[in-house]
Parts: sequence; structure tokens; C-alpha cells
Amino acid sequence: MEVGGIQALRRWRAEQSGRVGLVPTMGALHSGHQALMTRARAESDLVVTSIFVNPLQFGADEDFVQYPRPIEEDLKKCEEAGVDFVFAPALAEMYPSAPEVRVVAGRMGAVFEGAARPGHFDGVLTVVAKLFTLIAPDVTVFGLKDIQQFVLVKRMIADLNFDIELIGLPVVRDADGLAMSSRNSYLAPDDRARALAIPRALTAASEVAERGRGAAESGGGGGSDSGAGTSGVSAGLPAAVEAAALAELDPAAERGDLEIVYCSLVEAATLRQCTPDFTGPALLLVSATVGGTHLIDNLPLEF
Ligand code: AMP
Repeated sequence: MEVGGIQALRRWRAEQSGRVGLVPTMGALHSGHQALMTRARAESDLVVTSIFVNPLQFGADEDFVQYPRPIEEDLKKCEEAGVDFVFAPALAEMYPSAPEVRVVAGRMGAVFEGAARPGHFDGVLTVVAKLFTLIAPDVTVFGLKDIQQFVLVKRMIADLNFDIELIGLPVVRDADGLAMSSRNSYLAPDDRARALAIPRALTAASEVAERGRGAAESGGGGGSDSGAGTSGVSAGLPAAVEAAALAELDPAAERGDLEIVYCSLVEAATLRQCTPDFTGPALLLVSATVGGTHLIDNLPLEF
């Protein structure tokens, strides 16, 4: 495994002829990141993982300085996952000066995480575009934990004509249900217990969706299609799903365990709020602050 910045990467990349897979990360790697690398390994001849804490995507009052950077442990994890090249550029190399020209994420970058963190997705897409240009991957693997990021990267690939296949992998969770995140290391044990209201909310929502779908199918006649049909959604089910999640989150917020940033059921393709009679792929997006730590999670659903 090689490790290097821009020069070493360019030299290495020029020598390669196989299919290259890229996994962009900010380091502090956990099993969620390793799942992406394993998938990239299966999809390509050569795997590049980037480790770069991108200042452009942090607000002035956010944790850029504090963000964990355990580089030696990260390199071991990359080695274990069969990574060929770890691209770990210095800050001054990626941004010799603050970039004047940036990618603009647009409407879908201004809602939810983008509303809570203005400019965040412009920063994300700008660095991802730089990584795509520098590494020239054939395929890239992202986590669906950061679902809004995934939707925007997909849109950028289409809008800017990057010739790159995008793969999204489901959220990897700890045994207690909390989505793995580099920021979970900020949580004190009590806060961690409080944060479990988030996966509980998603489970409650998923159960209501399942029951609603089952009821609509058994009452709908015929009903021979299995699973994620777009027929048979009962009117109001999207609202009931959102309400089920809030029934877990609201009391937690009232107890002072967390602050809800958002809890919304949206259309997966557009991130617009689902109407009561919506059918098709949807996402329940949840974000909460627990003991000052900003957490996100989501549940994919089919109505
Ligand atoms: P980050 O280092 O947090 O910027 O994340 C790098 C990549 O890992 C992104 O594509 C994330 O969506 C993905 N990722 C982070 N946490 C998880 C998780 N728990 N499950 C799946 N993917 C994840």
C-alpha cells in the first residue's frame, strides 16, 4: 500500500491501467468506512481511499480543528481492507489559497443538513470534484448514512458529466443501533444512551410503514405483488410514518436528552416533502444534537 499527496498520487495513477475504485473519507475510520473499501475492492482492480479533513465543508463554529485525525490507525485499517493507495494530501496542497471557484450544490444543498450547516454541501461537492479530477476513478463508493450527500454527489456526477459509477452502501450500525460515525467519539456514555432515541425513531417509523403497507395490500384485493410495490399505499401513511418517528423524538427532546434539528419524510429523488398520497421511493431524514454533537441518520422507505 502506498501513501502520499498529490505528486505521489499523480505518479502512481499514471502507472495504473486497471479499473480504479475510490472511497473518499475524512479519516477516523470505522467499520462503516471499511465496508465501503471492501465493496470498492470487489468492484475494481485498484482501490484508492482518500483521507482529508476538508475545511470547506465546516462552518466557522464547527469542529474542524477538533475533528479526530488518528492517521496511524487509519492506515492500518486501509491496509487490512486491501487499499492500494491512500491519498492523504496536506491542507496547503489541496488549497494553496482559498478557492475562488467552487461547486454550488443548489436547492437540494440548501435544505436539511444544508439549512443547518450553510455552505456545507458546496464544500463537500467542491472537494469531491477535486478528488474525482485528481484520482480519475472508474467507480466510487459512498455511504448512504450521509444520504443527502449521496443524492447530491449523484446529481453532480450527472450534471457535470463525470464518467464515474456511483455505488451507495447501507448504513452500518453499532450493536445498539446507533449509526457509526467518526463524531460518535465525542459522545459521553450518557449522551450515547440518549442518542439511541434516533435509531428507535427509525425503527418505529419502519414498523408503521410495514403495517400500513400490509394493511393496504390485504385490503386492496388481488395483492399478488410482493414487497416494495408502488400500489396499495394507504392515504396518509407518509404522515403516519413521520409521526411515529416524532413520537420517539419529541419526548426525548422534552426530557432535554436531545434537540431535534429535523425529522422529515421526503421523496428520495428530490428531497421534497412527501405528500399524503405519495408513492415511490422515500427517505425519512433525521438529525438531532446530543450533548452538542450533531448526529444524522435516515431510513429508506418505499410507498
Ligand atoms: P466521512 O469520513 O464521515 O466523511 O465519511 C466517508 C464515507 O463513509 C461517506 O461516504 C459516508 O457516508 C460513509 N460512512 C460514514 N459512516 C457510515 C456508516 N455508519 N455506514 C455507512 N457508511 C458510512
